[in-house]
Amino acid sequence: MLRWGLIGASRIASSYIIDAMRAQEGAEVLSVLSSDQKRGERFASENRINDSYTDLDSLLADDRVNAVYISTTNEKHHAQALAAIAAGKNVLCEKPLAMALTDACEMVKAAADKGVTFATNHHLRNAGTHLAIKDLITSGRIGNVLSARVFHAVNLPEHLRGWRINDAAAGGGVIPDITVHDADTIRFHLDEDPVEVVAKAGTSGMGEGVEDSVMSVWSMPSGAMVQTHESFTHGFAGTGIEFHGTEGSIFARNVMTQEPVGAIRLVDANGETPVDYKNHNLYHRSLGLFTNAVAGTGHPSADGVDGIKSLAVALAVREAAQTGKLTPVNYGGF
Ligand code: NDP
Repeated sequence: MLRWGLIGASRIASSYIIDAMRAQEGAEVLSVLSSDQKRGERFASENRINDSYTDLDSLLADDRVNAVYISTTNEKHHAQALAAIAAGKNVLCEKPLAMALTDACEMVKAAADKGVTFATNHHLRNAGTHLAIKDLITSGRIGNVLSARVFHAVNLPEHLRGWRINDAAAGGGVIPDITVHDADTIRFHLDEDPVEVVAKAGTSGMGEGVEDSVMSVWSMPSGAMVQTHESFTHGFAGTGIEFHGTEGSIFARNVMTQEPVGAIRLVDANGETPVDYKNHNLYHRSLGLFTNAVAGTGHPSADGVDGIKSLAVALAVREAAQTGKLTPVNYGGF
């Protein structure tokens, strides 16, 4: 039974995660940390949470709290995770795990040394659509995968702009925000890690000192090639992912999303077939697997190493875009 402390009075917590925590039998959300007392108190009251703190040590000192969810801005994840781990709490941390790879590695190693569960909140691998796509690939329905394409260019809603578009120090930019998710999703489907990347990034009307658009190409150990496009400025593009193999192709549309929606088609020598999927809540599944992992009966949907690796790919994409060079992905020994 998990008794949660929330580190961060964030929108993702109030719109998806608190509900997913409470959907797990016996779970409670006991407290929230905010850097602003009034915001914290308002957040606590709006979300039916008893305790609100402005001091992390006070939240962590509550022995009833056995798990924390970190959803502050990205530059804060590292120090907050290390403190929570040192206090013996299980940690579900938002992506990107940290700003620097060494920091992410330190978090994951600290959790392993302390013997607590540590997971990364990559939601897409919990979607019924992505589980169905993975089934098609692993059961050989498209043969050997030759290439993949990810379309993840969206219109960042007004209420989410803030630090994402104007604060590099807080981890803003489309690469830490969306490329990390695409890296995790590709790794999930292909079961291998990108080796090298090339990329081009820029601003197309929204980014103020951070990139709001990026395109990249990744090479995989199998020889497959991956092409991705992430943006904050595309109002009408829609999202999607495609896998093309020696025996068929998978076309999935509107699936790079937090909602259990989208459509999948398999095209092969027999023609075109729509693919069914389960439309459960993505975050409920993620929180369920995290809860089981803490209880010792399973593995989180995306663990700490998955978080390190998605960050590693995103950092390589950013470096490649800045240098204009083919860039190897450094996984920090993981
Ligand atoms: P928010 O901007 O809603 O919250 C981030 C921080 O901003 C909060 O911790 C809070 O600080 C501060 N804040 C919140 N509201 C205000 C306000 N009105 N005025 C000033 N400051 C405010 O961020 P998100 O929820 O969008 O993202 C948080 C984290 O979650 C990020 O790491 C992001 O990458 C990740 N994320 C993950 C998603 C997923 O599906 N996995 C989806 C969306 C985000 P304080 O806590 O000090 O009060």
